[in-house]
Amino acid sequence: MRGRPLVSPAARAARAVLLYPRGSVLRAVVFDVDFTLARPGPDLGPAGYRALGFRHGLSLDPERYAEARAAAFAEVKRHPELDHDDEIWVLFTERIIEGMGGVGDTYAAAVEMERRWTQSERFELYDDALPTLAALAAHGIKIGLLSNSARDLGEFVAHHGLAADALLTSASHGKTKPHRTIFHAILELLAVAPGEALMVGDTLDEDVEGARAVGMSAVLLDREGRYPWLSDRLESLHGLPALLALG
Ligand SMILES: [Mg+2]
Repeated sequence: MRGRPLVSPAARAARAVLLYPRGSVLRAVVFDVDFTLARPGPDLGPAGYRALGFRHGLSLDPERYAEARAAAFAEVKRHPELDHDDEIWVLFTERIIEGMGGVGDTYAAAVEMERRWTQSERFELYDDALPTLAALAAHGIKIGLLSNSARDLGEFVAHHGLAADALLTSASHGKTKPHRTIFHAILELLAVAPGEALMVGDTLDEDVEGARAVGMSAVLLDREGRYPWLSDRLESLHGLPALLALG
C-alpha cells in the first residue's frame, strides 16, 4: 500500500506543524483512546461516584469531585518501571472517593469504580472520532488504538462501531505509555516503521513525548485548549485530515 506525504509543501509553509523527515510517507495513525476518541460517561463522573458510594454506605459529595481528582493526580505516582498496575488506579480512585468525603470501605467502592473503566458502554465517542477514522481509512491509512487501560479494545471498537487495524492496551502489553516497548509493539502490529506513523493523543508525556522518543511523529489533541502556546496541536480531530494534507 502506498502512503501519502505527511504534510504537503503548502501545509508545511503555512504551519510548521510536524517535525517530520523530508520525503517520509504516512502509513498509519495511532490514536490514544480516553479523552482522545472517547470520553467517560456520567457513570464515571461525579454523579456516578455519588450513586456508587451510596451502595457502599459512603456519602460522597459530587461538588468535591474535581478538587479530589486533582489532589489524587498530585499524590498518586505512576509505576517506576512504567508497568501496567491496576492497583495504582484503584488507589487513585480510592483517593478521589476519600476526597469526596468517603469514610468506610472506600477500597471496595474504588475497585467497583475501576471495573467500570473497563466497560465499553460507560464511554461516549466524541463527535469527531468516527468521521476522522473514516477519512483516514479512505486514504488507505492504517489505524491503531493504543490505550493505558485494562479495557478489551476489541469489544470497545465493536460496541462503538469503530474500525481499526491494530489494538493494544497496557494491560495486555505489560508496560504503559510512555514506555518505548508499547509504541514499538503497536507499530509491529501495524507493520509500519516509526517514521511512517503519527501518534494522536491528549497527554503530552504519555502520548506525544512517548511517541517521539521512538521516532514517531505526534500531535497533541488539546480539546480543552490547555496548551495554546504549542504549535503541533489540534483542538479537534476534525482538523486532522487537513493537517495531514489529505484534503
Ligand atoms: Mg488519553
